[in-house]
Order: sequence, then C-alpha cells, then structure tokens
Amino acid sequence: MTVSQELLKEALDSLKDTGVRITPQRHAILEYLINSMSHPTADDIYKALEGKFPNMSVATVYNNLRVFREVGLVKELTYGDSSARFDFVTTNHYHVICEKCGTIVDFHYPALDEVEHFASQVTGFKVNTHRLEVYGDCPACQGKSLH
Ligand SMILES: [Zn+2]
Ligand SMILES: [Zn+2]
Repeated sequence: MTVSQELLKEALDSLKDTGVRITPQRHAILEYLINSMSHPTADDIYKALEGKFPNMSVATVYNNLRVFREVGLVKELTYGDSSARFDFVTTNHYHVICEKCGTIVDFHYPALDEVEHFASQVTGFKVNTHRLEVYGDCPACQGKSLH
C-alpha cells in the first residue's frame, strides 16, 4: 500500500469507529483531500469530483467536510477574506502562505509546546492549540513584477 492508501484506510476506519456512514462521495472527498497537497476549498473539491457525482452540490461537499472536521480528520483553515480551505490532518504541521497568489504549503517543525506552556503560565489560560503561519512570496511569484 502507498502512504496515501494507508492514510485513506485509517481515515475510513476512524469514520467507521465513530459510526459515520461511508458513502461513495465521502470516500471520494477523503481520497481527494489526501492526494491533494493544495489545501482545497469546498468549491475546488466540488469541481474536481462533479464529473464523478453529477448529483452532488457544493453544499453536499461542504456538509461532508464538516462531518470530517467533527471527527477530527480535517482542519478548516479560514483566512477572513476568501472561502475556507480544508486540510487533511496527518501530523501537526505549519503553513507558509504566499501573499501574492495565496498558495499554502505545509512544512514540518517541532510543535511549539513551550509557547503554549508559556502562554498558559503568563495568562492563566488552559491552552488547547495554537496556529502559526509564515507569509512571503512563493518561488513561482518571486521575480514576477506587480504590473
Ligand atoms: Zn505565489
Ligand atoms: Zn496543511
């Protein structure tokens, strides 16, 4: 089995464990999320799969993504301006985001547990999570002029 097949199998198993019904659409959406490294929006997923599921709507895709999020399989990334993007949760990773084209790329870095610990100590919060994003120009956008 390839890594993505293994991830898909694990994801389907955890859906089964939580009693979520696995429909062909859910299967396809999960598969797409695992194989795409592009942090797609619900619309991107819809466009990629509409040929396969002519009766599926963007709302269906979004509802399924919400189910996956509740089970903890996907993370929803919101950036205020544009629509939410979805990320299949494997290991904890951080994002570097292109300020010009919006491309989001994963990178791995040891989790910043000490930051959470420190925040908790100085504020008295019970810290659950944190989010770190790095911004810049992606390789494709570097050198492109603004005009
Ligand atoms: Zn870019
Ligand atoms: Zn990511």
